[in-house]
Amino acid sequence: MRSKCDELRGTIFNNKEDIYKKDQVIDKIKKDMKDLENSKQSSSKEIEDLKNTSGKLEMFKKKSKNLEDLYKSMVPQIQCPFGHPLHNPVTVIPCGHNYCLGCKKGYQKECSQCSGKLKIEAIYRNELMDDIIGIVGSMRQFVELTK
Ligand SMILES: [Zn+2]
Ligand SMILES: [Zn+2]
Repeated sequence: MRSKCDELRGTIFNNKEDIYKKDQVIDKIKKDMKDLENSKQSSSKEIEDLKNTSGKLEMFKKKSKNLEDLYKSMVPQIQCPFGHPLHNPVTVIPCGHNYCLGCKKGYQKECSQCSGKLKIEAIYRNELMDDIIGIVGSMRQFVELTK
């Protein structure tokens, strides 16, 4: 025979079961909140990283622009008097003008820059200019790469 007491025990048992299930739900929610908090933190770190990266990119762009300006200012300095960019090997004559060695024949007797009065008696390699041409070439590659 089922007594009031048994009935009560049953109710208590059911309530305990219910509380236990609700505790589990609460634990799950706590865990989810913690995960959310963690992902929020890592997101703000990523945003911070992104800001840093974009700052660096701005700096890089600025420096690239400076290098491009420098490159553009150097190009006119490395022209052969015959109207093209100097190419290696470069020669310099006593008046101080530079020519490509390949253009040597064009100025064997006189310098096209010096009114043609000066007789050329010597030509020298201008290795410094060879190096400068190399550097300007590297600058051009860099400028094209960052376009
Ligand atoms: Zn030349
Ligand atoms: Zn000259």
